[in-house]
Amino acid sequence: MKAILVREFGGPEVLKLEEVPTPKPGAGQVLVRIHAAGVNPYDTYMRAGSYAVKPQLPYTPGSDGAGVVEAVGDGVKKVKPGDRVYTAKTVTGAYAQYALALEEQVHALPDKISFGQGAGVWVPYGTAYHALYHSAQAHASETVLVHGASGGVGSAAVQMARAMGLTVFGTAGTQKGLDLVTREGAHHVFDHRKAGYQEEIMKAAGGSGVDIILEMLANVNLAHDLKLLAIRGRVIVIGNRGEVTINPRELMGRRASIRAFTLWGITPAEETEIHSGLIAGLENGTLRPVVRNEMPLAEAARAHKEILEPGAAGKIVLIP
Ligand code: NAP
Repeated sequence: MKAILVREFGGPEVLKLEEVPTPKPGAGQVLVRIHAAGVNPYDTYMRAGSYAVKPQLPYTPGSDGAGVVEAVGDGVKKVKPGDRVYTAKTVTGAYAQYALALEEQVHALPDKISFGQGAGVWVPYGTAYHALYHSAQAHASETVLVHGASGGVGSAAVQMARAMGLTVFGTAGTQKGLDLVTREGAHHVFDHRKAGYQEEIMKAAGGSGVDIILEMLANVNLAHDLKLLAIRGRVIVIGNRGEVTINPRELMGRRASIRAFTLWGITPAEETEIHSGLIAGLENGTLRPVVRNEMPLAEAARAHKEILEPGAAGKIVLIP
């Protein structure tokens, strides 16, 4: 089969399409014929060797795939050959024609969700779910600012928060992104490249601030986020690419908090709950992954460059 292999950490050019043996499922494992693989920002940090999780070389990137079960190993009960599934982590990597996954890493993909969309489920929607339900403990009638709402996680969070009954504010840095955020359900949108946009957010929040901020770029925004919070507000740090200085006094007066997580650290019980919630939302139409573009697997290096450029508008997926 064809697969992307990383033989050394480095720039996008280290992603090479190679011919490798098709894996065989052992006991408790599932072989998935991958129809689409999701590209996430962490794939790029991992490839560069700068991420907290460092795979053994050589490796095939990708935790998020969607496809059809090709074969199952001994003892597998959850799925059978022919089932449509999405993956949440894999054993051998999703940037490939086939991926081996543990039985617990594959989940039913509802019929109305395309494979391209299915490749955008786990990291984006799992993160949005954990941020809103577990970390922020959001509830209907609160206001959430999705700070970076045009990308994979942000667009997922907008749809989810809207369905939960929150008032949703979202930001993007291009008109295309702002249009997407509006289309996916935000009540108010703001351009995070426009000077003074934070004042517009405060005005839209009636001067009293927002209850929750889902932050995609904390090193740039965290210090100012604290000033946008309402009493008992909470910032959930999802994305961060550097250091930042904050004034804790902004938290003290508001009895506010900063919370943070990585999806790698969640408990098995939380993960079980997340998949049940996501599958229900995919089935009932409240969750609709947005695919920005589908690229051939051979163009993984281009996908890794583009995902870090400004102008997000949903997910980039690779088609093997
Ligand atoms: P993505 O699809 O590339 O989207 C990036 C988002 O950040 C876009 O909406 C982009 O908007 C926005 N952005 C750019 N500049 C910004 C600014 N100055 N202020 C606010 N937002 C800005 O990435 P993603 O998959 O949504 O992930 C977002 C971040 O979360 C990444 O850093 C990723 O590594 C991280 N993440 C963390 C976890 C975790 O477990 N903690 C899980 C998933 C993702 P424009 O392009 O429109 O400017």
